[in-house]
Amino acid sequence: MSDTEFDLVVIGGGPGGYVAAIRAAQLGMTVACVEQRETLGGTCLNVGCIPSKALLYSSEKFAETRHDLASHGIGTGKVTLDLKTMLARKDKVVADLTGGIAFLLKKNKIDLVAGRGAIAGPGAVRVTPEKGKPRTLKAKHILIATGSDSMPLPGVEVDEKRIVTSTGALSLAKVPKHLVVVGAGYIGLEMASVWGRLGAEITCVEFLDRITPGMDGEVAKHFQRILKKQGMKFRLSTKVTGAKTTRAGVTLSLEPAAGGKTETLKCDIVLVAIGRRPYTDGLGLEAAGVATDARGFITIDAKFATTAAGIYAIGDCVPGPMLAHKAEDEGVVCAEILAGQSGHINYDAIPGIVYTWPEVAAVGKTEEALKEAGIAYNVGKFPFTANSRARANNLTDGFVKILADAETDAVLGAHIIGADAGNLIHEIVAVIEFGGAAEDIARICHGHPTLNEAVKEAALAVDGRPIHL
Ligand SMILES: Cc1cc2nc3c(=O)[nH]c(=O)nc-3n(C[C@H](O)[C@H](O)[C@H](O)COP(=O)(O)OP(=O)(O)OC[C@H]3O[C@@H](n4cnc5c(N)ncnc54)[C@H](O)[C@@H]3O)c2cc1C
Repeated sequence: MSDTEFDLVVIGGGPGGYVAAIRAAQLGMTVACVEQRETLGGTCLNVGCIPSKALLYSSEKFAETRHDLASHGIGTGKVTLDLKTMLARKDKVVADLTGGIAFLLKKNKIDLVAGRGAIAGPGAVRVTPEKGKPRTLKAKHILIATGSDSMPLPGVEVDEKRIVTSTGALSLAKVPKHLVVVGAGYIGLEMASVWGRLGAEITCVEFLDRITPGMDGEVAKHFQRILKKQGMKFRLSTKVTGAKTTRAGVTLSLEPAAGGKTETLKCDIVLVAIGRRPYTDGLGLEAAGVATDARGFITIDAKFATTAAGIYAIGDCVPGPMLAHKAEDEGVVCAEILAGQSGHINYDAIPGIVYTWPEVAAVGKTEEALKEAGIAYNVGKFPFTANSRARANNLTDGFVKILADAETDAVLGAHIIGADAGNLIHEIVAVIEFGGAAEDIARICHGHPTLNEAVKEAALAVDGRPIHL
């Protein structure tokens, strides 16, 4: 094949796109990956998962040193913050990892084509680089993996200085005095945690009457209580209707969600984190016959095929949870299907994790979803206060909750709030993937003393027989 003809052209080098490209190359296809950003890794590596986790880690260390080490008998003297160094460390982590992806593409003999891709007819992708001439790539298959962008809020114009998206919130030059976060979803709460730990006053304004929509209701309530104890303020059932920016800061107009009297809220920085929307600008979807739904997500079938022959789509630009590991798994399975293999994803076994303190992790169904579907279930709950390792490490906030089918005992969902919840959840993900029961978890020998024992105890509690409660 020539250097403009490929088995697969992937548009987008995020976790969906670059992983699909690598898997397709492993399966013997000739592959090009088109990316408009200077670096690979998409939202996740550049302005999402990785920089946010780097700052969450650094800010957690800062808060721990300031507030917790004394209780262990460790004296530190005056703890100071060098924000520039903290941000530079984050930037280096991002640079190292995005560079690593470029290396992996090279290793797998994937052509990285820099520029903006658009569909230019059946089996053709036109790539327009920032400088130089456009080029047309021919492809047996085209895979759209163009991801998502932050959702705009009418009346509140983002300038990435005073009014920022998560991207601006990852690089604030100084700690805000008062940060207002619009939207109490996981991205808003993670960024609120970073700046709150570094000293900002935090107010979260949320349209709904609860935080973290979609999360199990009991867990969300507990989570909000813990965040409040950490000093975060919440204005629930409240909508932001406008913003005025001055040199001194921002004045937001707020109204009750149900309508009513307007009031104002002053702050120096506003983070708009009301969700993300699929990003498909300039791809030429309509002309190519690729249908989208009412919210702009590309319509696909169970094999990731769009409504246009030879064009596929995965990741944040298609329906489903907007998570990096979901995009990656779709990338792998889509490449395998294109290579003639069979493959599917169990969407009931995709974990979701909030990397705050404590972490919150979930997989499968919530109690609300089971009730709505009329499925009878048993609940097993175990608090970390009764776990010996949690007590030894002073990590007693939170609990493990397992939901199992009342008739078959199959694990239908699990929700953990507590230290290391993001790691603990994976045992339950594996059990769900293998179609296992709560009794299976209860019978697995868990090391002692570990936080994992709380998972086993919650599984025992499904059958009313926890040992340490
Ligand atoms: C602050 C923040 C924190 C997050 N934290 C987590 C987390 O902890 N865990 C988690 O699982 N998820 C997290 N996410 C979500 C995660 O980043 C996304 O789900 C994931 O990046 C989606 O991958 P993707 O490949 O579908 O799209 P993206 O990562 O968005 O990649 C798409 C790529 O396509 C490129 N592109 C778009 N259009 C074109 C075009 N026409 N031509 C060429 N290139 C194009 C873009 O430049 C981009 O690089 C976070 C997101 C944010 C914003």
